[in-house]
Amino acid sequence: MRFYRSGEVIRDCGIVYLYSILREMEGHYKKEYGLDFTDNYLEFICCDYSEIYEYIINVKVFENFLKGIKAEFKKLKIDEEIFGNATVESYVDIINSIDGLKLSDKKSFQKKFESKYMPYVRNSMKYGTNSNGEENFHKNFYELLRLVVELNGKELEEQKHVLNKYKPSDNICCICHSVYSTEFDITHKSEEKPRVNSRNNYMFMGSEKNTFNNYGNNKSSICFVCEFLNLIFLLYFSLKQPVYLAYVDSLRDFYFFNSKINNLRRLYNDQGFYKKLAQYNSKNIRLYLVEPDSQKGVVLRMEQVLKYDEFLKQIKLYSIINKLWISTDTNINIRDLRKLVVSRNYKSIKEVILLVLQCFDKKKGQRVLNVMKTLSNIKLMLEMLEIESNENGGVDLGKDYKTFFYAGKALGEKIPIEAKNTVGFKLIQMLKTDNRDGIIKFLYHSFMANSIPIPVYFSKGILDSEDSRELTYNIGVFLEGFFN
Ligand SMILES: [Zn+2]
Repeated sequence: MRFYRSGEVIRDCGIVYLYSILREMEGHYKKEYGLDFTDNYLEFICCDYSEIYEYIINVKVFENFLKGIKAEFKKLKIDEEIFGNATVESYVDIINSIDGLKLSDKKSFQKKFESKYMPYVRNSMKYGTNSNGEENFHKNFYELLRLVVELNGKELEEQKHVLNKYKPSDNICCICHSVYSTEFDITHKSEEKPRVNSRNNYMFMGSEKNTFNNYGNNKSSICFVCEFLNLIFLLYFSLKQPVYLAYVDSLRDFYFFNSKINNLRRLYNDQGFYKKLAQYNSKNIRLYLVEPDSQKGVVLRMEQVLKYDEFLKQIKLYSIINKLWISTDTNINIRDLRKLVVSRNYKSIKEVILLVLQCFDKKKGQRVLNVMKTLSNIKLMLEMLEIESNENGGVDLGKDYKTFFYAGKALGEKIPIEAKNTVGFKLIQMLKTDNRDGIIKFLYHSFMANSIPIPVYFSKGILDSEDSRELTYNIGVFLEGFFN
């Protein structure tokens, strides 16, 4: 069997998750499926599709069901650990064995076990609650899988034969453009059921009586193969709860990025990720925000298209922002800062970081310096300035690092802690307004008052610095030495 990449994010995500499922199956059944996962297709050997059917129903759909039960257990304050390696076979016994559970609750949890369906398609008469019984759902899903297997690799003419029972229409699927759509739908009932396009077949299609249609085409049609991959996507969405989907023009990279992207924070130290990024440096990446929507199912909101190096930069900035101490009297919050990263408004981020170098002291009712927090923020600010400067290939920010660091250190050693805060506070205030003259006068005065020789190149690094970024960097380094 071979599934080709279509360029459609939901369908391709379905293929990628199907690959994950097949890998799980290899472990589960102790078998090999001859998996071949390339940039453009997923291939595997499928001798008996009932194995896939059983795994999806008994393991994946059950896993999804158990997720809901665990959430209820949390509310009841019962340890969800009890489910450990629960399976469809052991679920009822486990429920019965829980002492802390009232008899009525046990009954209710047993009853729930009888309605395990595909996630997000409650209204589906094929795979959801509206099929009126798991048996019907299973029957319909098995039939879907049969069609998917039989359609695989068939030319359009040959497909007509496979789809005969459902009356192939003149329309070709608007998602994959390679399989016929049909006039009739899969159903467990004896009468024929006309096929209606809705979000039960594919995301973005809108609910059945809703006019919303992402493709703006009344004749849009979805084939059974795309419908199947859509269900796999729904399982992925429900089980993994991704916030973002990153689409790249390669199935393998798609798999790689999406296993990483929702752990941005952890990524920061992930060397493997960087190596991988370096390999694909020139390609584009499309980033979507994923949100469930009662009308439309799951909605993907395009956040941005970016280059890998841009992406990498954003990951680093995210990590910096996550570590910032934010003063309680500002109305800055991490979420807004993340939005600045997404909109690539790096200039504002720098200003905000400068703003939070000072902390709010509740007792004193004013902004002051808190050495530990300020120092940590300064370091993050320097990191951020370095990232930006590397990117622009401009000035080497670190060229006067030693001068400023040791000047700060020398002065810091002479000044008592309480006075230190005042000095740092004043410097940051002047930095905010790019008051270079003020900075120079103030520092020269401080050096002389403490009999410290004024370092060579010191005034140059302040007065002649090319832009406020370089000035901020130098003073940042000075403060780093000063508070160290
Ligand atoms: Zn299709």
